[in-house]
Amino acid sequence: MAKYQCPGCGYTYDEIQGNPHEGFPPGTLWSQVPEDYACPDCAVRDKEDFILIGGTPPDEAAQTAPSPAAAAPVTPAAPAAHQAPQPASVAQAPPAADTVYRKWLCITCGHIYDEALGDEHEGFAPGTLFSQIPNDWCCPDCGATKEDYVLYEEKLGELA
Ligand code: FE
Repeated sequence: MAKYQCPGCGYTYDEIQGNPHEGFPPGTLWSQVPEDYACPDCAVRDKEDFILIGGTPPDEAAQTAPSPAAAAPVTPAAPAAHQAPQPASVAQAPPAADTVYRKWLCITCGHIYDEALGDEHEGFAPGTLFSQIPNDWCCPDCGATKEDYVLYEEKLGELA
């Protein structure tokens, strides 16, 4: 067991005492403390900056007291991997035969998205409904958002 001192503020990590507050039970070897550990007092010094100030260095300790329990690595509970939500596939089951394909007009630049044709360049197979297009999709011509599209036929009705 050894002690390690932060050269910045003088905080001492004692392997015998561990640091339960930080999640290191008594007996946690310095070598078991995560590499990204920083001084809990000044938070400035990194683990590598700590200085061995007393006790038995890890190598000798391992030779004099080979304790499997003490050598067991401390594995702090890793935060659950954040599962990114799977993006909804636009290549879904083919629409029913009676599906009416519509056209959508970008009110900003006049670009038309035709559901019947899809947009291979954007990765939308023919028959991809506008509602199946990801909400963060943008007009390939002007970059307007999906919300800036209106039904082409309705727009024609307005103009008539
Ligand atoms: Fe546009």
